Amino acid sequence: DEKRRKNVLILMSDTGGGHRASAEAIKATFELEYGDEYKVNIIDLWKEYTPWPFNQAPRAYSFFVKHETLWKLAFHTTAPRVVHQSQMAATAPFVAREVAKGLSKYQPDLIVSVHPLMQHIPLRVLRARGLLQKIPFTTVITDLSTCHPTWFHKLVTRCFCPTNTVAQRALKAGLQPYQLRVHGLPIRPSFSNPTHPKDELRKELEMDEELPAVLLMGGGEGMGPVETTARALGEALYDANTGKPIGQLVVVCGRNKNLVRKLQQVNWKIPIQVQGFVTNMSEWMAACDCIITKAGPGTIAEAMIRGLPMLLFDFIAGQEVGNVSFVVENGAGTYCEEPNDIAKIIADWFGSKADELRQMAANARKLAQPDAVFKIVHDLDDLVRNKKACLEQQTFVYHGLI
Ligand code: UDP
Repeated sequence: DEKRRKNVLILMSDTGGGHRASAEAIKATFELEYGDEYKVNIIDLWKEYTPWPFNQAPRAYSFFVKHETLWKLAFHTTAPRVVHQSQMAATAPFVAREVAKGLSKYQPDLIVSVHPLMQHIPLRVLRARGLLQKIPFTTVITDLSTCHPTWFHKLVTRCFCPTNTVAQRALKAGLQPYQLRVHGLPIRPSFSNPTHPKDELRKELEMDEELPAVLLMGGGEGMGPVETTARALGEALYDANTGKPIGQLVVVCGRNKNLVRKLQQVNWKIPIQVQGFVTNMSEWMAACDCIITKAGPGTIAEAMIRGLPMLLFDFIAGQEVGNVSFVVENGAGTYCEEPNDIAKIIADWFGSKADELRQMAANARKLAQPDAVFKIVHDLDDLVRNKKACLEQQTFVYHGLI
């Protein structure tokens, strides 16, 4: 009965940073846990429901992250509250009407934002229409540490923080403890299941069954110095004295087709797998012994679940810087950007420094939160079921604020 199904509206924008992956993880978990009870819609509100030039945000983002200095400038100049608030206030009148259309089309019982720019305007629209007391609005943060302040809005019903560090920042930004939950970053439910044993997976994935394996990737877009790093590894993991490889390489290029093509043309001396966008990341991770990756929150959280030591070789300036210190300080990996040095570190991990690798794998596993997405979705369901009680508490705080 379509009418009785409860609607969840997830607001995201495809701007990297694991937003799409988190949105899809939440949707998939709703389906697993509650079946037909819920209908979950994911919308790129920025792109579909705002007029030009605001709908260009995802495209502008791809441009900016490739031109690091500009991105840093944009990130930091929008960071002070005064600046972003007046900016939001200036853009709101243009976008609010379109945002409202999007909201009324889906008639949500619950709204979940997984994007740093999806708080102010939607909440403004809800407030203007008197819906703040009727529809719970929640934020699921997808940064592990250095959050942009636009993630935090005092009028949310709940703000789900992946780490205690982020929760501390939320408190500093003025959110109340009752609004916060710390469950971890939402990761696809497939990561909460145990995988097949490593040797079986390697057979299935057509990898070498004996040699230690390193997984190399640059997020969903295949960003960062993947090609030069792969080439350096091709040399460092080959023992010229014996004429044999000491390790194997798996490169996941994501949506970067150009990179796939380039890597396929190289004459490799070690066993290698070059993949485009894979949908069985959980298996690839479980089949490997360590990972070289950009500091994307999604990939890091997944690698922790699979107990993979991480060598971070790149990060998006601004929001991903903190992810690097998170990994390094917790002893789950290291940071290095120079391809030859990276290759040397991996060769050592596969040789004389095997103990270090084992210790980092154990540390990574300790940080894993495979159930985070289930806990988040259970809390969200609870908000819909006990809407009245939750929103009354909310109103209390809301009036207190004004
Ligand atoms: N991913 C995937 N297949 C690929 C490449 C990436 O499923 O071929 C997933 C990856 O497992 C992670 C997400 O895409 O869940 C990337 O998110 P992350 O936060 O690491 O970086 P982003 O690309 O969003 O900046």
